[in-house]
Amino acid sequence: MAGADLHTHSTYSDGTETPASIVAEAARAGLDTIALSDHDTTAGWAEAARAGIEYGVRVLGALELSTRIAGASVHLLGYLPNPEHERLRQVIDEIRASRQTRARRIVENLSADYDFDWAEVERLVEPGATLGRPHIAQALLGRGYVASISEAFETLLHPRSGYLEAHHAPSPRDGVRLIREAGGVPVLAHPGTRGARRIGLADNLAELASAGLFGLEVDHPENQPDALAELRTLAERYGLAITGSSDFHGTRKPNRLGERTTATEVVDEIIRQGATDPLS
Ligand code: AMP
Ligand code: FE
Ligand code: FE
Ligand code: ZN
Repeated sequence: MAGADLHTHSTYSDGTETPASIVAEAARAGLDTIALSDHDTTAGWAEAARAGIEYGVRVLGALELSTRIAGASVHLLGYLPNPEHERLRQVIDEIRASRQTRARRIVENLSADYDFDWAEVERLVEPGATLGRPHIAQALLGRGYVASISEAFETLLHPRSGYLEAHHAPSPRDGVRLIREAGGVPVLAHPGTRGARRIGLADNLAELASAGLFGLEVDHPENQPDALAELRTLAERYGLAITGSSDFHGTRKPNRLGERTTATEVVDEIIRQGATDPLS
């Protein structure tokens, strides 16, 4: 399975594997390139770089920036930005802090009806990691309140459950601009999921394209099959590249490393446009 998987999450956000273990698994799977794209953080880059050198896997430093429009969450992959860029640092620090507060509030809401507390979530999170619903889902699973992480997302952690809270996030347009400002290459993540289609992201693509969007993550396991043709048409219309990735989260999601990949020419163009060289 040669190729490039440009979307993975480690223990620096809501994945279960360390960056080094993702890189080792990529080498075993025969991938030549991966991007480490933890939610709202670049803290795992150094570890991924060391492993990339050790295992002979090319690693692209990336992040998945949380944005929000009309109350709905939209994710932007940002490839090879300058990780020291001041505004980028400031914005992701703010999002992470707000994710922390939000996770505590969700747990508080749940604890009104379920015997459950913050300590059970905190145990699952590496110090400094970006907190997300998957951590809470895992704790609920540990308690037996749900039979799987996916069930938690469909029930207690669903936006309509009444327990959910939102975290702070910039608009997708500001997110695209910020990633470009930091020298990164912005790609709209999983634009064909049920949620993404509900908010009609396609209607905003002209605006995002003119703000500097580079591509659409058309090949993603959670994009709905009947959305793909339209996404390809839109990519063509707005001159956007097409990427493919697994969105690997270790054991917190069924997605398998390398199950989707990105064409070599697209990877080369990302590297050409990005402010930072590949980490290995
Ligand atoms: P949050 O950003 O905290 O709202 O949580 C969203 C995260 O949950 C994203 O990283 C998704 O990949 C992950 N996620 C969404 N649905 C599921 C699911 N059914 N199983 C596991 N993870 C999921
Ligand atoms: Fe995630
Ligand atoms: Fe995402
Ligand atoms: Zn992701």
